[in-house]
Amino acid sequence: MKLNIGVIKGDGIGPEIVTEAMKVLDRTGEVYGFQCSYEQLLMGGASIDVHGIPLTDETIERAKASDAVLMGSIGGDTNTSPWYKLEPSKRPEAGLLKIRKELGLFANLRPAVLYEELSGACPLKEEITAGGFDMMIMRELTGGLYFGERKTVEENGIRTAYDSLTYNENEIRRIAVKAFDIARKRRHKVISVDKANVLDSSRLWRKVVEEVAKDYPDVTLEHMLVDNCAMQLVKNPKQFDVLLTENMFGDILSDEASMVTGSIGMLASASLNETKFGLYEPSGGSAPDIAGKGIANPIATILSAAMMLRYSFDQDDAADAIEAAVSQVLKDGYRTGDIMSDGCTKVNTAQMGDLICERIH
Ligand code: NAD
Repeated sequence: MKLNIGVIKGDGIGPEIVTEAMKVLDRTGEVYGFQCSYEQLLMGGASIDVHGIPLTDETIERAKASDAVLMGSIGGDTNTSPWYKLEPSKRPEAGLLKIRKELGLFANLRPAVLYEELSGACPLKEEITAGGFDMMIMRELTGGLYFGERKTVEENGIRTAYDSLTYNENEIRRIAVKAFDIARKRRHKVISVDKANVLDSSRLWRKVVEEVAKDYPDVTLEHMLVDNCAMQLVKNPKQFDVLLTENMFGDILSDEASMVTGSIGMLASASLNETKFGLYEPSGGSAPDIAGKGIANPIATILSAAMMLRYSFDQDDAADAIEAAVSQVLKDGYRTGDIMSDGCTKVNTAQMGDLICERIH
């Protein structure tokens, strides 16, 4: 089996961490009987340097022609990089927004996993985190408040601003279906977050999610108000499997959930459209402060590659093997600088990639 993967190495630490993820994909392919074919694509600062713009139409077409895209982070030092002297529509991040739109990526997945070995980095009490936790935040990415009509008016000398939060049932249904599908690949539980005691958009959200749930009798559905959810994430994070939410709630809750895991270098992410296509990338940025030093943590990108195998290619066993290898490397005491602790062995980016490859069975 051949997997056609578009690769955007990106800027800063991007090329270093994506190289390690490709190494792990190749090793996993040898064991699980698939072959990865990579098409290198330019985006962000790397594209500005060559084409003068962060994303060309040709790159969009080539990304669409691949089965999935693996991406490092893009962007540079926003204070010193010449990319940030360009007008906003020509800066690296504009490429990111455009590719998400062009590829119709409406579902954002961010796993928040606390590995027992890294529990020292978690700001929560030990009795709450003992045994670790593992949740998947599923955030709607293209609707809601961030995309609604907005305006600021001045009447009688008083400025008033409006932002509208709109969802139609189709937008809710397609993200709910994704959430239930993904719950079936996990622990069969969806907690849907809303503010149905106040907002009409949330009441519709809840109704449509319940309609979708009827097609998934093997998946448990619970509803949770967003304010309660913010508390529950720090009080009892173990209760969450798939957490389904609209755009703005998801923006806030996914940052909260990821911070309780302790390290940005461990956080994978995926954005999906209605097909099996997805864009897979680490949650962190391009870390210009450590770029080129070979010390970045490649695990978030490697775990993003595992998500790609699971969600775009249905290679669940291969994805499990990568996740198990990451867990084993941590158990064996290897750490990059960002997650280093006493008694562990410090390794660089490439060594971490090699150690994970050695543990793929
Ligand atoms: P950042 O995530 O790049 O860095 C924050 C801190 O985390 C830094 O100290 C960095 O060294 C560290 N860090 C991040 N990833 C790491 C890794 N894998 N291993 C070890 N340490 C890691 O955030 P920032 O400094 O605010 O942004 C830098 C650039 O990245 C900006 O241009 C920003 O716009 C861009 N950015 C891009 C994306 C993306 O591509 N999706 C996301 C966020 C930020």
